[in-house]
Amino acid sequence: MAWDFETDPEYQKQLDWADEFVREEVEPLDYLFPHKQFDPMTDEMRRIIDPLKDEVRRQGLWATHLGPELGGQGFGQLKLALLNEILGRTLWASVVFGTQAPDTGNAEIIAHYGTDEQKDKYLLPLLNGECFSTYSMTEPHAGADPTQFTCRAVRDGDEWVINGWKYFSSNARTASFLIVMAVTDPDVSPYKGMSMFLVPSDTPGVNIVRNVGLWGEPMNDGYHALMHYEDVRVPASSVLGGEGQAFAVAQTRLGGGRIHHAMRTIGLAQKAFDMMCERALSRETQGSRLSEKQLVQSYIADSYAQLTQFRLFVLYTAWEIDKYHDYNKVRKDIAVAKVVMPAVLHDIAWRAMQIHGALGTTNEMPFFDMIHGAGVMGLADGPTEVHKLTVAKQVLRGYEPATGMWPTEWIPDKIDAAKRKYAELLELEVGNL
Ligand SMILES: Cc1cc2nc3c(=O)[nH]c(=O)nc-3n(C[C@H](O)[C@H](O)[C@H](O)COP(=O)(O)OP(=O)(O)OC[C@H]3O[C@@H](n4cnc5c(N)ncnc54)[C@H](O)[C@@H]3O)c2cc1C
Repeated sequence: MAWDFETDPEYQKQLDWADEFVREEVEPLDYLFPHKQFDPMTDEMRRIIDPLKDEVRRQGLWATHLGPELGGQGFGQLKLALLNEILGRTLWASVVFGTQAPDTGNAEIIAHYGTDEQKDKYLLPLLNGECFSTYSMTEPHAGADPTQFTCRAVRDGDEWVINGWKYFSSNARTASFLIVMAVTDPDVSPYKGMSMFLVPSDTPGVNIVRNVGLWGEPMNDGYHALMHYEDVRVPASSVLGGEGQAFAVAQTRLGGGRIHHAMRTIGLAQKAFDMMCERALSRETQGSRLSEKQLVQSYIADSYAQLTQFRLFVLYTAWEIDKYHDYNKVRKDIAVAKVVMPAVLHDIAWRAMQIHGALGTTNEMPFFDMIHGAGVMGLADGPTEVHKLTVAKQVLRGYEPATGMWPTEWIPDKIDAAKRKYAELLELEVGNL
């Protein structure tokens, strides 16, 4: 009977170590180098961060999203989920543990689809934490519907020539290479006519037009690039996963990326929840503590319920991925986690902010980042609405329309059927009266 909610004791020891290490050693980086985790490291940063990464390696917790053959630990997604919920509390922890987005997803697809040459050139430096990477798929005029993409790659002898625009290419400003999705055959269905390319950032024609800033970031000095690819020439060997395979590659990447975001979001929502509870017990108004007001108790109960349901669902989905080793088989539940995630983080962070009063709205507390993060989670890797469609479509595959004029559960039919089924016994009973 393998239906268990306990963590094996050996791994629990590693998690306990990670929890303390993240709180004591890594969390301070968020205040020393806020939002700088994808910047090129200064000597000062290296002096602090390199030894932390080495310590993670010594503990056998580096790059846990990948198998041992690729330098990871081969933990699988369930163990990763338990670790990621610890890492999700801070901005820097994923970088220190070698599991930061978008690099984890990019590493996964190169590991899955890459040739030996591609793995040597791109995957190894990525896994060693020596470089960053970018996933360049969304276009300015089309994001949620990739069939509208127009960025084009045309074959010219032994090379492909890429031309077009991309938007929200995260971390392009510091990435060593980009994975670019482009139309390679406009005459077939988009599902067969697009390919992924591995493109070194210093290739002529790879232009960052603007580094778009999110809310709170300086204008034109953010991390999400508007890209213009202008006659970018790459060798034929740059195609990742074969010509026409972009959708299959994207699905592999985004499946993993989405559930990893969900795992980290548990940690962030837990942090907001912890802050809510601390404040409720600390603040007194109108004759009693906030924790004694029923409306505040309602915030706490609702938040606990939301967080626990979400956490169990994410852990279950991670377990399913480990069981099937096929993101497609778990697509519905990954989409559910993606749909629920922004609401859970938003609701809990909002309530926590609210009970902190005016202080909660200041930049002296972290609620803005959390609430904004919830908005981002509702868009990055696809908008909530589109994931809801996926869930509904997948759910409906398990159902059939009713065959007759009335629904299957129409009570008059049910009564007739019940009477027919027990007709003999019913008559007997009547006869005995
Ligand atoms: C912080 C951040 C980081 C990102 N990083 C990357 C990255 O590294 N690489 C990359 O390629 N992209 C990245 N993206 C882009 C992201 O994938 C897109 O924003 C997303 O796919 C939606 O595309 P869009 O913004 O063009 O919105 P649109 O496609 O224009 O959709 C806009 C809105 O319309 C509604 N909508 C869309 N489709 C439907 C539908 N079928 N039914 C009902 N309503 C619908 C939704 O409300 C949706 O939010 C990032 C986005 C964010 C916010």
